[in-house]
Amino acid sequence: MANMWSGLLEEYRNRLPVEVSDPIVTLYEGNTPLVRSPRLETRVAEASAGAGVDGSGTEIYVKFEGANPTGSFKDRGMTMAMTKVKAAGTQMVACASTGNTSASAAAYAVAAAIGCAVILPAGKIALGKLAQAVMHGAQLVAVDGNFDDCLRITRELTEQYPVALVNSINPYRLQGQKTAAFEICDALGDAPDIHVLPVGNAGNISAYWMGYNEYFGRKVTSSIEDSALHLKPLTTKLPRMWGIQAEGAAPFVVGHPVDNPETIATAIRIGNPASWAYAAAARDDSGGLITAVSDQAIMEAQAIIAAEVGVFCEPASAASVAGLLALASAGQVPAGARIVCTLTGNGLKDTATAMEVRGDVTPPVIAPELSAAVQALGL
Ligand SMILES: *Cc1c(COP(=O)(O)O)cnc(C)c1O
Repeated sequence: MANMWSGLLEEYRNRLPVEVSDPIVTLYEGNTPLVRSPRLETRVAEASAGAGVDGSGTEIYVKFEGANPTGSFKDRGMTMAMTKVKAAGTQMVACASTGNTSASAAAYAVAAAIGCAVILPAGKIALGKLAQAVMHGAQLVAVDGNFDDCLRITRELTEQYPVALVNSINPYRLQGQKTAAFEICDALGDAPDIHVLPVGNAGNISAYWMGYNEYFGRKVTSSIEDSALHLKPLTTKLPRMWGIQAEGAAPFVVGHPVDNPETIATAIRIGNPASWAYAAAARDDSGGLITAVSDQAIMEAQAIIAAEVGVFCEPASAASVAGLLALASAGQVPAGARIVCTLTGNGLKDTATAMEVRGDVTPPVIAPELSAAVQALGL
């Protein structure tokens, strides 16, 4: 019997603002791996012990969103947003992007058979992401400015021309993105105790909080009526939301927008988050926090996740694990907690940054003989 995953809008139709008449635009996104990591659990226990705190017995999972069709969680929002654009008959979409939004918008515009314009900061996009937008046929415009400038221009463009905005200020994006929380609860049988994720424009933390609340049977503020509150609650608790920013781009930590955000993690290089109010509510209502980690801690975490979990994520994604380890070192991880870290995007999008911090990685060149290989491998 055919049993194909049918994409997020079909799988979670009863909890999404999908009308019977909507033409579903999908690349069969979602259903991403939730991977338990004993070695991260050991690291958290050791870091906690260093702070004189019992952090043993945790269950730590990574939700690998890099396994989505275009390699990031952005696809969850894009299937929903693009379906509504198609339903409205609009012929073109536009987005400002640090890279992954444009990759996703370009691919879903292909699936919807409409045009796509991408407004990006000149010279600050990882090559893999740029290649995706190019290959999917988007029209690219590079702005001599930062992401916040790009978003302002895109907003003005879509207000004045028949072009639909698909950045996360499009409320349908967050509706689609909340399904990641559903998948986690479905997989674990309940919500986790703590959810850790990187925060850039702050749409994703807002979307997860919305998703966890809906499974718990509670409404959170959003600009779209939550459709599924008549459904029976599926979870018994809500997680604490731990948002992680990069030190050079940490508006939530300093308490105000940052003019010139700077970090190696380009996907969270954002100084003026669009979803500020929702994210602050997620932090406060959940009894959570938003903190920042250094670029060095981010790159170390990326290496740890690759070498000890077996998942290659991009730098911004690794901020979640970097934050978790830092909070463990500060004695803040409770013993026995069940923790999920979102790894938002795929490391293959930006191999240059990962390799750069490794220095010289040229492998030894040997003669074409088994004995030479054996010797080089030290066997
Ligand atoms: C977009 C993105 C983020 C940031 O998500 P926000 O919703 O903007 O907070 C983090 N990591 C990756 C890989 C992303 O593409």
